[in-house]
Amino acid sequence: IRLSLVGSEMCIRDSTNLNPWKAEIFENVFTIFSDPKHGDLKKWKSILENLPQINPSIINLNSAIIQIGISSDIDSDKKNTLTSMLKRLHPWRKGPFNLFDIYIDTEWRSDLKWDRLKDHIASLKDRIVLDVGCGSGYHAFRMAGQGSRLVIGLEPFLLSVIQFRAINHFVNSPVIQILPMGIEKFQYSSQAFDTVFSMGVLYHRRSPFDLSLIHI
Ligand code: SAH
Repeated sequence: IRLSLVGSEMCIRDSTNLNPWKAEIFENVFTIFSDPKHGDLKKWKSILENLPQINPSIINLNSAIIQIGISSDIDSDKKNTLTSMLKRLHPWRKGPFNLFDIYIDTEWRSDLKWDRLKDHIASLKDRIVLDVGCGSGYHAFRMAGQGSRLVIGLEPFLLSVIQFRAINHFVNSPVIQILPMGIEKFQYSSQAFDTVFSMGVLYHRRSPFDLSLIHI
């Protein structure tokens, strides 16, 4: 199943255990991204649709600052345009990222959390991974860098999802899908995932026990 969505295609590849729910998931995503009452969606979609086409000569998802392209991949006009488009997606909370020498200095250094954790988890190679509360997808990119087969991120804060899509416009990862919904809306199969991350979410909730991950 493929769904054309804000400028790029979305698909959950592979025959994962999520297969029976794909249509329903995509319908939900489509509805959320089509909400006419959301004040900023139109502006964000137009930014996504007008991002310049540039082929990054290198992509490094395994570095603390996720690196996409280098300065010689882009001319100065495009660099200025891209910089101002990325600024219109402020605030950038989770990162950092470097796109064609444009440094996105995010509010949080998500690499520090990843460094603390990466040596204490099972290898992500070929795994199907869920990242609950994934923000802009910084950790999802790092998970993809570790060879995950599929990373599904859940994130109810739409701007973060849009930021992910802006970055992924250049990375073009077929592995990562970030869905604009919280865990409450994602009550699907057990055994669909090999590894589940839920980082920094529980303690934001008024009632952590209602955010049960047991069904996963
Ligand atoms: N996992 C990242 C981000 C933590 S901030 C990290 O560890 O750095 C918490 C994130 O969870 C925010 O982006 C917030 O929007 C998201 N979130 C809040 N409620 C959620 C819910 N019910 N389901 C999924 N994500 C949620």
